[in-house]
Amino acid sequence: MVIKKPRIVIIGAGMAGLTAANKLYKSGVKKGAFELCVVEGGNRIGGRINSSEFGGDRIEMGATWIHGIEGSPVHKIAQEINSFESEQPWECMDGFLDDPITIAENGYVLNSSLVDPISDLFNNLMNFAQGKKKLIGEGIEIGIGTDFGRNGNSSVGSFLKKGLESYWKLESRNETEGVFGCGEWNRKSLEEAIFAMHENTQRTFTAANDLHNLDYLAESKYIMFPGEEITIAKGYSSIIESLASVLPPGVVQLNKKVNIIEWQPESVMGIMGNIQGGNSSRPVKIHFLDGTSMSADHVVVTVSLGVLKAGIFNDNNDSGVFQFKPPLPNHKIEAISRLGYGVVNKLFLKLSPDYNPSINRFPFLQMVFHKPDHQVKNPKIPSYIATGSSIADMDTVAEPMPNSTVFGSTSGSPQLQILFAGEATHKTHYSTTHGAYLSGIREANRLLQHYHCLDV
Ligand SMILES: Cc1cc2nc3c(=O)[nH]c(=O)nc-3n(C[C@H](O)[C@H](O)[C@H](O)COP(=O)(O)OP(=O)(O)OC[C@H]3O[C@@H](n4cnc5c(N)ncnc54)[C@H](O)[C@@H]3O)c2cc1C
Repeated sequence: MVIKKPRIVIIGAGMAGLTAANKLYKSGVKKGAFELCVVEGGNRIGGRINSSEFGGDRIEMGATWIHGIEGSPVHKIAQEINSFESEQPWECMDGFLDDPITIAENGYVLNSSLVDPISDLFNNLMNFAQGKKKLIGEGIEIGIGTDFGRNGNSSVGSFLKKGLESYWKLESRNETEGVFGCGEWNRKSLEEAIFAMHENTQRTFTAANDLHNLDYLAESKYIMFPGEEITIAKGYSSIIESLASVLPPGVVQLNKKVNIIEWQPESVMGIMGNIQGGNSSRPVKIHFLDGTSMSADHVVVTVSLGVLKAGIFNDNNDSGVFQFKPPLPNHKIEAISRLGYGVVNKLFLKLSPDYNPSINRFPFLQMVFHKPDHQVKNPKIPSYIATGSSIADMDTVAEPMPNSTVFGSTSGSPQLQILFAGEATHKTHYSTTHGAYLSGIREANRLLQHYHCLDV
C-alpha cells in the first residue's frame, strides 16, 4: 500500500501565505514530510504588497512602512537581503518630514500658533486612548476620571469628540472669535477642521471609515514594535520575492481563484467517496473558478477579511465569491461580520518638469477642509476592531477547523482541515505586514506540530 504524504494547500500568495509556505517548505516539505501548493487568485504574488514604478521612482501601491524596526521580522528579512539600499529613488526615502505647512480651504496658510494646540490636543488624546500616556492634558475631562469606555461599546470617535468639546469649554471658545486673514473661517470652525484633518489621518492608519466605528477599548491593546518607522529602498516586494525564492517552480500557481472549499466537519465512515465527485481520501476539496478542483488534507486560508465577508454576505448570490461547504460555524460567521474592514487608497502626484527639488524641497502639506473627509497621508491599514467587536473575534477567526482542542468541536473528523492566517487573524499586530507574517508562521507551526516535525 502506498502511503500518501499529507497535502497542504495555501490559498493566497500574500505575506501570510508565502510566509507559511516558506516555513512549511523549509521545515517539512524539503524533508519529505508533506506535499505543498500555493494557489493565488491574481496574476502576481504579494497581495497587498505591490512595489511599482512612477515617474522613475520606486513606489508602493500597497504597504510602505516597516512599523517599528525593533523585533520586526520584516525588518530582519530586509536586512538579510540588503534591501535598504538602492540606486533608484524610492517612495518616502526621506522618512517623515517635520514642520508641515497647513493650508485651509481657499488657500489660507495657517499660523502654527493656531494649528499646534489642536495638533497637540489630538496627539495627547490618541496617545491616551492607545495607552501610551496616563494623562490626557491639563483641564481636559472626559467621563468621570479616566474610565471612559470601560463598559465597552464606546468608540475612539466619541472619545475624541468629548476631548475637543472639553478643550473648547476650557478655552471658552465660541463662534464669534474670528481669525485675521482667514476669510469666512472663525477660530472654532478652523479648530474643528484641523481636528478633523487629524481624525482623517488617523482613519488612514486604521482603515475605519469613521472613528465612531473604531472600538475604544481595543485601541490600547494594539501593539507597535519599538524603534523607527522606515521604508524599504528595494521595495516591499523584495521581501515577498525572498520568501517565495525557496519554493521550487510550480509550487505557486497563479490565476487559480478559489470558489468553494468543501470540508468534512462531521466524522464520516470512510471519507472516501463522501466528497462529491471525488475519488480522493483527502477530506478537503477545493473548487476553482476555472472549473478545476484539487483535494487536500489541510488548507491554509489567507484571503483577506474582506473576501471572507463577501462570501458570508453574498446578497447577490454571486457564484464567484469565496464560500465554504458546509458553511462556517455560526460563531465564526458572527466574528467575521463584527470585525471592521476598510478601504485605503493612495494618490501619487507628478510635479511639473519646471519644479526643481534641489532648490525647493516639496513641503509636507496638511490640508484643512470644511468637510472632514479629505486628508490623504501614509495610508495603511485594512482591518480594525469595530465598535461592538473585540480582539477575541480575531482569535475566533483564526481558530482552525475541526479542532478537537476547542470546546464543542466534533471529534472524529480529520483534524485541522481548514486553518486561517492573514493580518486580520493576528490580535495584536493586525493590519500590518508583520502581523500577516506572524500569522503565517503561527499556522505553519500548527501543522508542523500536528505532524511532530517542528524540530525536524
Ligand atoms: C494601500 C495600503 C497601504 C498599506 N500600508 C502598510 C504599511 O505601510 N505597513 C504595513 O505594515 N502594512 C501596510 N498595509 C497593510 C498590509 O499590506 C497588509 O496587512 C498585508 O500585506 C496583508 O497580507 P495578507 O497576506 O494577510 O493578505 P493579502 O496581501 O491580501 O494576501 C491575500 C492573497 O489572497 C489572494 N486571494 C484572495 N481571494 C482569493 C481567492 N478566492 N482564491 C485565491 N486567492 C485569493 C489575494 O489575491 C492575495 O494575494 C497597507 C495596505 C494597503 C492596502
